[in-house]
Amino acid sequence: MIDLRSDTVTRPSAAMRDAMHAAPLGDDVWGDDPSVAHFEDALAERTGKAAALLFPSGTQSNLAALLAHCQRGDEYIAGQQAHTYKYEGGGAAVLGGIQPQPVEHAEDGSLPLERIRAAIKPDDFHFARTRLLALENTIGGRVIDADYMHQATALAREHGLATHLDGARLFNAAVATDTSLASLCAPFDTVSLCFSKGLGAPMGSALVGPQALIDAARRWRKMLGGGMRQSGIIAAACHYALDHQVADLAADHRRAERLAAGLRSLPTIEVLSQATNMLFLRVPEPHIAPLRAWLAEREILIEVLYDTRLVVHRDLDDAAIDAILAAFEEYLAQ
Ligand SMILES: *Cc1c(COP(=O)(O)O)cnc(C)c1O
Repeated sequence: MIDLRSDTVTRPSAAMRDAMHAAPLGDDVWGDDPSVAHFEDALAERTGKAAALLFPSGTQSNLAALLAHCQRGDEYIAGQQAHTYKYEGGGAAVLGGIQPQPVEHAEDGSLPLERIRAAIKPDDFHFARTRLLALENTIGGRVIDADYMHQATALAREHGLATHLDGARLFNAAVATDTSLASLCAPFDTVSLCFSKGLGAPMGSALVGPQALIDAARRWRKMLGGGMRQSGIIAAACHYALDHQVADLAADHRRAERLAAGLRSLPTIEVLSQATNMLFLRVPEPHIAPLRAWLAEREILIEVLYDTRLVVHRDLDDAAIDAILAAFEEYLAQ
């Protein structure tokens, strides 16, 4: 099966399963799991932050961060397309009484500084208290410019706002730009990272930041039902990915580029963009259902949401890219 729906479909490699099997375990709610502690320490060091905390999912890691930064009646600024705003069920509002203030993106996925500035409310009892700027990198596969990140977080700090980065795919940004994870995390107070996307862990995300915020997030994690027991088995998978599978993302990016180049040479479908491991296509409406069925018959899965998004990942090799291109070509030839 060639699954292009997301990089979340990646399975743990044999070596990752061995690492999980070998991990020493304890009860992490009691603070007793050595594999969790070892992973959190390693990740804090790698990201240049004081502390790290393992979560079952990125949604919970982001939510605990929003809850740690904001009080009831506060608001956070985020992009219209941000995962924290659009794809997390409105959790901050539902569970925290925290109001999102969405802002329209620029073409490159960033939030224009003028729009951020205009969205920050003055201290007036009519308004929610603007408390936090939450950005995302990568977004739609695009790497957000590092200079922009410094400017946006400086603007936030000028206005007394805290900063959070949803870095679910920050490892892709680090590999694509040959930049250290620590320097991409440096402008932000807290960063959420996912290990179950392109890095292949079966589950697991982590929040990194200053000790006081991580302590607050630990309390929220417990309340959200995210306190886990022998979670060293998960931490070991994440740790293995951190140590051994990050560099592999470069191959995903190369294959995504090759897939985009191949699809660009075909008629009828339009490649709108390709960045890191993602491609966005425009397929004319009458072709969407038949193309999807044609590909499914050849064991190729795609998902059509707004535009067609293809996600390349570590469970797809060069032969898979050839098979995808051949299937598109044959469909368009008939
Ligand atoms: C996947 C993802 C998350 C977290 O999703 P979970 O499925 O809850 O782990 C957060 N932000 C972005 C940008 C994502 O792509």
